[in-house]
Amino acid sequence: MNTFSRRDFGRLVGIGVGAAALPPLFAQNPAAAPRSTGPGVRLSANENPYGPSASALTAMHDAVRIGNRYPDAIADELVTTIATLLGVPTNQVILGDGSSEILKLTAAAYCSPTRKLVIADPTFEAMGSYARAAGAEVVKVPLTLTYAHDLAKMAAVQNAGAIYVCNPNNPTASITGKQVVRSFLEALPQDTIVLVDEAYFHYADSPEYESVIPFVQTRPNLIVARTFSKIFGMAGIRCGYGIAQRSIIQKMDQQKAWDSMNVVALAGARASLLDAKQVSEGRRRNGETRQEVTSALTKLGYEVVPSQANFFMVDIRRNVRPVIGALRDRGVHVGRLFPALPQHLRVTVGTPDEMQSFLSAFRAVLT
Ligand code: PLP
Repeated sequence: MNTFSRRDFGRLVGIGVGAAALPPLFAQNPAAAPRSTGPGVRLSANENPYGPSASALTAMHDAVRIGNRYPDAIADELVTTIATLLGVPTNQVILGDGSSEILKLTAAAYCSPTRKLVIADPTFEAMGSYARAAGAEVVKVPLTLTYAHDLAKMAAVQNAGAIYVCNPNNPTASITGKQVVRSFLEALPQDTIVLVDEAYFHYADSPEYESVIPFVQTRPNLIVARTFSKIFGMAGIRCGYGIAQRSIIQKMDQQKAWDSMNVVALAGARASLLDAKQVSEGRRRNGETRQEVTSALTKLGYEVVPSQANFFMVDIRRNVRPVIGALRDRGVHVGRLFPALPQHLRVTVGTPDEMQSFLSAFRAVLT
């Protein structure tokens, strides 16, 4: 198998091999928390290399003690915090076990054998799998030449139950401009749901980009998904949320397992939101490191797709598959093959040291 899955990584670092070999779940001193989970440099899953914020670590540590209680009260607190920060009523917020759960609930509620899912190609595939599990046909519409969603073509697909717009898009890290998104939202019939996935929202700083959360009040067919897995560094803790009008939230809620969120994740998420510096620091640090590594690649003569996220795609002008393997042999794990862009390598932005390791391995393999 050439691709390197998250499960392979678990085996590699010994997760499940023996608790004695593992560091304590939460170090007494949050600042001493481990930043890296194993051998090699992991630039394959668009994770945050710096981990959760110190205040989130403290809150999660404290929350373990209330692990005997169901999470209702703390879930309500997180919903209230999200609603206050975003300026929406609390009944327009739904929490998820990662934003993946928001995607899954959307597919379960709005896709079926007679209602298709429309997605870009390439985009984050989880949504396609969830829709197929609901019996729906998945229609893929290629990205434009500037790696934006082709919203006109996506809107033209007949019998769509839901249209998935990943903005910024994974795996290309590209954005779909705010004007086209606005026009698309205005023109779309209201019986087709639009799910805008804003997992990488916090990293985007282009004036051409905007969140669509403010449009939820006037668009009864709009769902926005957000996550704590990226800028908040909590991918392994699992927390995300969706914003939509009440009728949609109710429909999604019917598909949801009761109490699917745990107290630790909820407490960590809430503390993260209250830590104003985490987003600005994370965006700055990611932007600087990304700039350094992408300009080094450009100097080597490779084209990089302009990135608005914590990863980027570089056109290596040859099939990525053997290169992914050769990098892995040098201890550097990058994203897998995306069949729609077979010569583009997807690389997560790690720490500056990790990106130096990536560049050394890249030079050794490709030059
Ligand atoms: N959406 C996008 C675009 C992603 O890239 C990812 C993960 O990589 C997710 C959603 C899922 O994130 P999570 O379930 O950890 O919130």
